[in-house]
Amino acid sequence: VSVDLLSRRAAPDGVPGLVAGQVIRGLRRHGKHILFELGRGLLDVHLRMTGKLLLNGNGTHPRARIMLDEGFIVFDDIRQFGYLRWLESAEKIENLGPDALNLSSNEFAARMRSRKGRIKPALLDQSMVSGLGNIYVDEALFRARIHPCATLRRISVRRLHALHGSIAELLAEAIASGGSTISNYVDSTGARGTFQSRHKVYGREGEPCASCGGPVKRIVVAQRGTHYCPRCQRA
Ligand SMILES: [Zn+2]
Repeated sequence: VSVDLLSRRAAPDGVPGLVAGQVIRGLRRHGKHILFELGRGLLDVHLRMTGKLLLNGNGTHPRARIMLDEGFIVFDDIRQFGYLRWLESAEKIENLGPDALNLSSNEFAARMRSRKGRIKPALLDQSMVSGLGNIYVDEALFRARIHPCATLRRISVRRLHALHGSIAELLAEAIASGGSTISNYVDSTGARGTFQSRHKVYGREGEPCASCGGPVKRIVVAQRGTHYCPRCQRA
C-alpha cells in the first residue's frame, strides 16, 4: 500500500513515508475511526463531517489516494475536517477512548458516574466513550427517555444501564443501515446511508414525537443543535 497526498491538510505528519510498501493485514473500526492494520502500525482514517472513502472512485474533492496492488481508495472530503494519521502501535488505539460497542454496561455506568455535569456533553466526549456523534447521542437519549441536560449524578445506575442498551441497539441498527446520510455521506461503493429515515428526534423539530405525538423540540447543548421530546424525556 502507498498513500498519495493531494492536499497537505489531509495528513499532517508524514503519513506517505511511514505507510509506503506495507501490507494491509486487516481493517477495523474503533469509535469513529477506520483503522487499516499494517505491518508496522496503523493508518487511522477519521471521516469527520464530510469525509468518504471511495473504492476506485473519483470523488468531487479528493484529498488523498490510498494505492493498493489492484485499484485504489480515494479519501474525498469537501469540508476538509477529516484526516489520515499514523498510529505506531495498537496501544495508541487506547487513546481514542473505549469503543461504545466494546464497553460493558457496568464499565459504561461507572464512567458516567465518575463525571460531573450534564449527560449530553459526556456522551459526545470521545475519551469517555468513543463512537457517538451528535445525531446518535440525541437518538440514544430519546430511546432511553433521558433529557439531554440531565445531571449525570442524578441519573440512576439502572437508567445508565438502559442507556447503554439503547446505544448498543442504535449503533448496531445504524451500521446495518449504512449510517445516516444528512447531506452527502456515501459508503465505499457510493451508496447513501438510510438510517436518517429512522431518526426519531434528530432533525425533526416541530414534528410529532413517535412515542407520544407531542412536538419534538430543538435546543442548543454543548454548542450543538439538540433534539428531544420534552414529554418523553423529562429533565
Ligand atoms: Zn414524546
